[in-house]
Amino acid sequence: MHETSIVNSIINTLEMEFEEEKLNSMKAIHLKVGVLSNVEPRLLQNAYSAFHLSNPKYENVDLHIESTTLKIQCEICDHITDVQNYRFICENCDRPSKNVIQGEEMLIHKIEFEDQ
Ligand SMILES: [Zn+2]
Repeated sequence: MHETSIVNSIINTLEMEFEEEKLNSMKAIHLKVGVLSNVEPRLLQNAYSAFHLSNPKYENVDLHIESTTLKIQCEICDHITDVQNYRFICENCDRPSKNVIQGEEMLIHKIEFEDQ
């Protein structure tokens, strides 16, 4: 399961990054998931719910997933275009561009902790 391994790798990353005490006060994980990242937010939420069954200590930690749009930056004029309907064309100079600068990534954007 693709999404299950993503959940595991997110948790592994956090466990390496933060002390146990800090992890216990964690209340939300915010992810940014690009439309080209091959990650389906709904399936990721399901995998995260399933993860809680074997890891109840994260039960109160919410997972927030924000889908990021696809953006390209033109190699000719540097203009940044929001790609609509997979049309990879600079809106400023009408040239095709494959220089994707957002939309392929899956990253941990923010972690929320309880107030100390
Ligand atoms: Zn351009």
